[in-house]
Amino acid sequence: MTQPADADARRAVPPVICYPNETLPVPPLDLYRAARETAVKVDEVFAAPREAATFRVPAGHFFRISSIEGPQVGDLNLWNADDLSERFYSGKSRALHGTHLTTGQRMWSSFPYLRPMATIVDDTLGWYGIDAFGGSVHDVIGTRCDPYTHNLLAGGQYHHCCHSNLTRALADATGMTLAEAEPHVHDVLNVFMCTGFTRDTGQYFMKASPVRPGDYLEFFAEINLLGALSACPGGDCSSEHSSDTAACYPLLIEVFAPGQDVLNGWSSPPINGYDRSHGR
Ligand SMILES: [Zn+2]
Repeated sequence: MTQPADADARRAVPPVICYPNETLPVPPLDLYRAARETAVKVDEVFAAPREAATFRVPAGHFFRISSIEGPQVGDLNLWNADDLSERFYSGKSRALHGTHLTTGQRMWSSFPYLRPMATIVDDTLGWYGIDAFGGSVHDVIGTRCDPYTHNLLAGGQYHHCCHSNLTRALADATGMTLAEAEPHVHDVLNVFMCTGFTRDTGQYFMKASPVRPGDYLEFFAEINLLGALSACPGGDCSSEHSSDTAACYPLLIEVFAPGQDVLNGWSSPPINGYDRSHGR
């Protein structure tokens, strides 16, 4: 393939940030932290290895996902508990914040809502940053491991991919059939997963998660949430997923209720202000 004479000059054009985020609403982290100091634990759920668990978090409450017995990656789905059509939008969260999320960043919802569903208020892996391979933690660039891709690449029927785990858990939580629940499952926040894109081929990579028991990622619920978390069959995702060979550990989800009055004046963010007339 021949290059144009000015190929190097074209490549040398500096990048421009697609979505400058100076105008993004800034979460009131000081308020959330004050509320967190008054909060008491009201619920806990365990996601068993190669299974998923659901949990409900009222708006204004907090939820924490913790590594407990060994390094383990979790695949997180979030829905508006009152309307499952509003769900986490991984791609737009990536466009707004970057490839990996940490404290002060948010999980945004799908169109036409496009509002914060949850804000990260604490991340014990925030120290990791971006490593020499371009890898970082808690990505919104992966999808969720699923039996369709596994079948495409390796053949066979594997039933404990995160996609299936999330489907079963959502069906159990809502009374839906598996066929009804499956379309609600969506691309995830890869909690604790360490990922990036290779510089030479641009391929999605994973590497052993730096997570250790005691590490956690904590969120403030901006709206009433139904969550589902799958303890990925890849374990710490150091070698492979979509199989039963990796060492897998449970994950702990805890819910905390704030003290009375501390969130007075706060309310859930409104749905997006676009009028949906689409020019007609
Ligand atoms: Zn997975």
